[in-house]
Amino acid sequence: MKKAIRKVLVINSGSSSLKYQLFDMVKGERIAKGLVERIGCGGPKDHTAALDQVVKDLGDAAKDVDAIGHRVLHGAEVFKDSVKVTKDVMAKCRKLVKFGPLHMPANLGGIEACEKIFKGVPNVAVFDTAFHQTMPDCAAMYAIDPKYYRKMGIRKYGFHGTSHKFITQEAAKFLKKPVSKVNLVTCHMGNGSSLAAVKNGQCVDTSMGLTPLAGMVMGTRCGDIDAAAVLSIMEAEKLTPAEMDTLLNKKSGLAALAGSSDCRDICAMAEKGDKKAELALEMLAYRTAFYIGGYNTVIGGADAIVMTGGIGENSSEVRERIVRRLGALGIKLDRKANKVRGQVAVISTRDSKIPVVIIPTNEELAIAQDTVKILGK
Ligand code: AMP
Repeated sequence: MKKAIRKVLVINSGSSSLKYQLFDMVKGERIAKGLVERIGCGGPKDHTAALDQVVKDLGDAAKDVDAIGHRVLHGAEVFKDSVKVTKDVMAKCRKLVKFGPLHMPANLGGIEACEKIFKGVPNVAVFDTAFHQTMPDCAAMYAIDPKYYRKMGIRKYGFHGTSHKFITQEAAKFLKKPVSKVNLVTCHMGNGSSLAAVKNGQCVDTSMGLTPLAGMVMGTRCGDIDAAAVLSIMEAEKLTPAEMDTLLNKKSGLAALAGSSDCRDICAMAEKGDKKAELALEMLAYRTAFYIGGYNTVIGGADAIVMTGGIGENSSEVRERIVRRLGALGIKLDRKANKVRGQVAVISTRDSKIPVVIIPTNEELAIAQDTVKILGK
């Protein structure tokens, strides 16, 4: 008989940091969480050294780990679901490094470190792109010569899939509908943001693209932009592709518009009458409402609009600015209910045509749940 999976370690291994959480899946409780920083730049020399630090920090709790779940950025079209890590899986993942040259080596480094330190403990890779693999071609393809898709895999993949899937499942429970019958627009709004159109529990469109740069106005990313504007700036400023990448991913979005990438700062500035902050918030709200309207059409009418992430769960101000723009869908905000922070709640009125529901996301728990599911198969 298979040993029950009780203790699951979840690893989110980035280029210079490693975040972890340890769960008791029988009790459904988190046992520990932590962060090792400055990997390769003053702290531990590599991911194996960082994981040694995690084992030290966990002490006795590091004993009897039954399974390890890893967040992996990109599964491209190869991985449509989470998967138990084998040599073959690692070889396939290494071929996908081109899709995430910054994150993928760190993600795979975390898995290799676990294989060394937690000998014999199974690892599961959970891909940020997997939930979006059900998108039809009409949503996923770009209108350029298809040879770039064939040769280079250029298409829309989408990210935050673990979060969109988790809140889809939680929203279905909340709405008392089977997941396979639920239609939603899910809005993950944090420092990085993306929306997904979910029809019958499956993703049919999402706002991020080949990379996480597309779609919403984000903390430091520009989101949607005319590609010709990018070329004009590169030419005028004589920027290399790497420099342009930094400009679009790290020096744009709220940071460029209002001088801070943090939504709390911007709300405070707008409250004091700062015009730049006001415009930044309106741009954020406008684009979110624009996508909600489009996705509501795509799925043939939503059972609910679901909001999550640091901004979605906490910012009454941003939520109000978004919902104010959704009157044409018959959506009405309950301003008192909208004061809620960080908990499951309906923030629309009883007579709102579509409910707006806050559902806190928990990507680490979702990874732990998937790990148990995959190893139990
Ligand atoms: P995340 O990436 O999901 O951790 O979300 C980070 C974002 O959530 C930042 O822009 C924060 O400013 C924002 N955030 C967190 N709490 C609040 C709050 N109470 N009001 C407004 N924004 C918030």
